[in-house]
Amino acid sequence: MSELHPDPALTRCHSQAGGGRQRIATRDADLSGLPLRRALPRRERRMIGAWCFLDHFGPLAVSPGGGMHVGPHPHIGLQTFSYLLEGELLHRDSLGSEQRIVPGQVNLMTAGRGISHTEHTPADFRGGLHGVQLWIALPDAQRHCEPSFQHIATPPAWRDGGWDLSLLAGEFAGRHSEADIHSPLMAMALRTDGASELRLPLNPHFEHGLLVLNGSVQVDGEALAPGTLLALDCGQTEIEIQGTQPASVLLIGGAPFEEDIVMWWNFVGRQQDEMVRATDDWNAGRGFGQLTDDLAAPIPAPITPWHRG
Ligand code: MN
Repeated sequence: MSELHPDPALTRCHSQAGGGRQRIATRDADLSGLPLRRALPRRERRMIGAWCFLDHFGPLAVSPGGGMHVGPHPHIGLQTFSYLLEGELLHRDSLGSEQRIVPGQVNLMTAGRGISHTEHTPADFRGGLHGVQLWIALPDAQRHCEPSFQHIATPPAWRDGGWDLSLLAGEFAGRHSEADIHSPLMAMALRTDGASELRLPLNPHFEHGLLVLNGSVQVDGEALAPGTLLALDCGQTEIEIQGTQPASVLLIGGAPFEEDIVMWWNFVGRQQDEMVRATDDWNAGRGFGQLTDDLAAPIPAPITPWHRG
């Protein structure tokens, strides 16, 4: 995924402290023409733990040749994390990885010092597309690491209180995801077919976010539907999620990310000059490996507000 319309006002990001919970409206955005809802970063909330970006796309019908088509673009300093409820995507990257992802699976790409990738709905796919892509900021000690790619075909899954739960990253109640993460965080997908009630223990050292992807639910007695991110500060020890209709929910959490980050386009760093350098390197064809794509042209990096001359 690629942030095509960067907002300079959102480029200084840091985690927020304080008690309580926030309901944050998502922002309509698009990705190479694909409409989506952006839940992070928002002015009200830049990050949840190390999670610094959250796009929710679909559900939408894919016409022949349609769906998601994102040409070659670079990343640094982050991990991209993809999860589908519906549809198929083909990931290719400058390491030579080529991986189809289907609903229930996780693609986790670690950009580290630099990687480029493409994301396409396969040409032979017919059906719907519905999913999320998130970014995880890498801590300073890891952010210049070698790039890598991990596909998790069968995340740990179980059933509780009428809900199907799947642990997509981190640890939860004695279960462990194999996702290769670099700071304390978690992600879980929850799905119900109807009447259901679930009391979930939360790590009080984490801040959390809940995003309904489909249907609507009651969270601690308050209605929550797509288009609103519910952000919970540290200190929360449990949450009650009630369903009355088919619904899908994404729960993310993480220890407050204590490092100040700078985000520009598809780059996460610490200093503005790193963003300038990454932009110039990508636009000059340096530093992000080789990746050709027959379906879509490379996406040029927009010039930063910090470029001079
Ligand atoms: Mn991307």
